[in-house]
Amino acid sequence: MLKGKVAVVTGSTSGIGLGIARALAGQGADVMLNGFGDAAEIEKVRSGIAAEFGVKVGYNGADLSKPAETKGLIEAATSELGKVDVLVNNAGIQVVSPVEDFPDDKWELVISINLSAAFYAIKAAVPQMKSRNWGRIINIASVHGLVASTNKVAYVAAKHGIVGMTKVVALETAETGVTCNAICPGWVLTPLVQKQIDAWAERDGISKEEAGRALLSEKQPSKQFVTPDQLGALAVFMCSDAASNLRGAAVNMDGGWCAQ
Ligand code: NAD
Repeated sequence: MLKGKVAVVTGSTSGIGLGIARALAGQGADVMLNGFGDAAEIEKVRSGIAAEFGVKVGYNGADLSKPAETKGLIEAATSELGKVDVLVNNAGIQVVSPVEDFPDDKWELVISINLSAAFYAIKAAVPQMKSRNWGRIINIASVHGLVASTNKVAYVAAKHGIVGMTKVVALETAETGVTCNAICPGWVLTPLVQKQIDAWAERDGISKEEAGRALLSEKQPSKQFVTPDQLGALAVFMCSDAASNLRGAAVNMDGGWCAQ
């Protein structure tokens, strides 16, 4: 379905981004990976996806807390893979602290990676998408783009912001073949969430398995983690022709979290 298309997936060396990059490659898209990690591990992931799906896969280590590097990522994908048709803004971090103790520098960092990077990447990619009259922008928000939890002030602000940004970009591209939507996952078992489970286990003196179950029971009625593969399948749907009038939506895949 995506043969001949090029996708950039930010933060795709791990977790949800990697699941989405694999799903898009599985549909024939060439993919530019991005994110941090061990160089040898990243190369294994890059060459593995290329071999498994028979597509071109590049890697760019842009630090998305820096606007110039975010623009550079779009430029690198365009020069190395020819263009950018699909942009998945996925890179994100979490910092947990009550508002009165929330470190200023961490506020700036969360906002820069989880919100501003999407703005800079969209701004850089939209002109070429409009010129070909086809594009798919998928912003990985969160249930925290729709509802709040305590101790996550920067994350919740950034994710609500990205849902708003999604609507604006969808309106500005509404008469074109470019669409912009958000995906709002509930709990997904990735390194980002494992850190929160570990902290819970330590705080309550329970095992990590018990803490994982407690974390799910608190918010996610299905009591099951959403998986990167399931989110990848949703991203693939958003790239399909059937989704050409899905515009400005924030689709929650959250095991029922937001239904409560
Ligand atoms: P993860 O920690 O597994 O992956 C995050 C990715 O972002 C990694 O590839 C990392 O290297 C990259 N990254 C971090 N800082 C970066 C920077 N400055 N520049 C470039 N890349 C950077 O986390 P995840 O759980 O897969 O999260 C991916 C996205 O999904 C995030 O936006 C997160 O907020 C969102 N999300 C996650 C969950 C969940 O339960 N895991 C739920 C809802 C939303």
